[in-house]
Amino acid sequence: MHEVGIAEMLSEIAIEEAKRHNFSKVSSLKVQIGEMAAVVPEALIFAFSIVSKGTILEGAQLSIEIVPIVARCDRCEELFEVENFSFKCPECGKVSDHCISGKELLLISIEGEKGEHPHV
Ligand SMILES: [Zn+2]
Repeated sequence: MHEVGIAEMLSEIAIEEAKRHNFSKVSSLKVQIGEMAAVVPEALIFAFSIVSKGTILEGAQLSIEIVPIVARCDRCEELFEVENFSFKCPECGKVSDHCISGKELLLISIEGEKGEHPHV
C-alpha cells in the first residue's frame, strides 16, 4: 500500500505549513494529488489517520482532489487527457509521455487553531 508513503510526505508538508501559521492543532487540510500517483482516496485518508497520530495533524479532516493526467504530444503538440495510462495522442497516434499535469502532490489549504490565542 504505497498510500502510506504519500501520507507521510503529505504529513511532513502539512506540519511545516502548520508551524508557519503557528497552529497548535490542524482541523482540516486539502490536497491535490496527480492521477499519476494512482492513489485510492479512501486508502490515503486511512493511511493519513495512522501517520498523523500523535502529531498536530491528528484528527484533521483530509480532503483530496485528484488532478487528471494531461500530456502534450511530441509530434503535433496536441494536449490530451490521459485515460487508463494510455499516452497515445488522439490526433496523430504518437505515444508521448510529456506530462503537463498529473504528478502533483500539493497542499492547497490548511486550517487550524492558533496556539498563541487560546481564547479567540
Ligand atoms: Zn499528436
